Amino acid sequence: MTAENIFDRYGVKYGKERMSQHTTFGVGGNALMAELGAENAAQVLIALENENIAFTLIGKGSNMLVADGELDRVFVHMGREISDIQVTGSSIICGAGAPLSAVCVKARDMSLTGLEFAYGIPASVGGAVYMNAGAYGGEIKDVLASVTAVCGGEIRKFSADELDLGYRHSRLMDERIFCLSAEFALAPGNSDEITARMDELMGKRRDKQPLEYRSAGSTFKRPRGAYAAALIEQCGLKGYTAGGAQVSRKHSGFVINTGDATFDDVMAVIDHVRRTVKQQTGYDLEVEPEIVS
Ligand SMILES: Cc1cc2nc3c(=O)[nH]c(=O)nc-3n(C[C@H](O)[C@H](O)[C@H](O)COP(=O)(O)OP(=O)(O)OC[C@H]3O[C@@H](n4cnc5c(N)ncnc54)[C@H](O)[C@@H]3O)c2cc1C
Repeated sequence: MTAENIFDRYGVKYGKERMSQHTTFGVGGNALMAELGAENAAQVLIALENENIAFTLIGKGSNMLVADGELDRVFVHMGREISDIQVTGSSIICGAGAPLSAVCVKARDMSLTGLEFAYGIPASVGGAVYMNAGAYGGEIKDVLASVTAVCGGEIRKFSADELDLGYRHSRLMDERIFCLSAEFALAPGNSDEITARMDELMGKRRDKQPLEYRSAGSTFKRPRGAYAAALIEQCGLKGYTAGGAQVSRKHSGFVINTGDATFDDVMAVIDHVRRTVKQQTGYDLEVEPEIVS
């Protein structure tokens, strides 16, 4: 059975898409992409697994670098059609496709505190859980209560403690666990204070990050005992350019798309940065975005 047969069987919309339009980097070639909905996501994921069809789950595409050309790979998107956000007491349960910032806004509107750190991370809930996204001293791990997911051909509920959440790591990366929804445990707070903190952190992002350019955020993980951006700057790599890809002059930890970057341009900048930093400082920089080629 093909991926198309499975999508047809469950009434899933699909078609050829330019992946550059589904990644924040704005890079990526043509691939078959299906749009999962709350009512069919689990069955479709289980069927794809059972048929051994290689696929990549994609949320907001804000931590993904996709190769150019015609891709022999199926992308399965979790977006608007699996993005319900429900509040019960101080818990928020949301679909994996919900934008993380929308969950933060909902929490603020309900005077629930805990998710302020996440405002401005351009993630889907599923992608944020997968990466254990974090910023400004907070991480998903601090507020995640449980995840409902497809795992081993069935729907399972995992408590956050079972997910091995660490710095930009979760068990979802090590095993084939696909998040369908997540529950966040927040605390009653003061709406004005929550708003003020969210605005403050958004202001810091605008000041420090090259948000006027397309990127996948920090291109390198923080190495133990150092900061990637500081190492890159120390090596004189600020502004290093290959084609349309460049080490941001505003924040050296970001590789940006200055307009018409190709996958090869981005990889050329990444490879040069890693090689130079290794030679000059001894640090091995690990790439943070998922490379899909
Ligand atoms: C301007 C900018 C700023 C950023 N700032 C931050 C920041 O402060 N902190 C931070 O941590 N990150 C940051 N990022 C990176 C990125 O937003 C996060 O890593 C985010 O968690 C990725 O979510 P996504 O939905 O875009 O995932 P995608 O890029 O769509 O996917 C990333 C990975 O998650 C997997 N995945 C997606 N959905 C699911 C699911 N439902 N179940 C299982 N696996 C899934 C994908 O298969 C893929 O392997 C930033 C990015 C940008 C562009």
